[in-house]
Amino acid sequence: MLKIKCPYCGDRDETEFSYGGEAHIERPDSPSEVSDEAWGAYLFGRPNKKGLMRERWFHVHGCRRWFNLLRDTSNHTIIGSYTALEKPSIAELKKESRKGGAK
Ligand SMILES: [Zn+2]
Repeated sequence: MLKIKCPYCGDRDETEFSYGGEAHIERPDSPSEVSDEAWGAYLFGRPNKKGLMRERWFHVHGCRRWFNLLRDTSNHTIIGSYTALEKPSIAELKKESRKGGAK
C-alpha cells in the first residue's frame, strides 16, 4: 500500500485517496472552435507512460482537496506532492524528497 503525503494533511494511507488522472492537462480556450480530433485528443489522449508522471489525487477521506503528485509509475515511488496551484520542477521535488520534507 502506498503512503501518500497530502500537502494539507500529511502522510496517509492510499485508501484515503482517489486517483484523478494526469495533472496539468490544458483545456482548449475555445472548445467549440477546435476540431473533433483535437477535442478528442484533449479528452482521451493520455500517454500513460512508464516513469515519472505528474498525477492528480483527491483526498476523499481527509481534507477533500485536490493536489498533485510526482510518481514513478514503474515502481510506485512518490517523489513529492504539491498543491494544485503549484508546479514545482522535478529537481525541486527530488530535493525536497531527499531532505525528507516533501509536502
Ligand atoms: Zn488532505
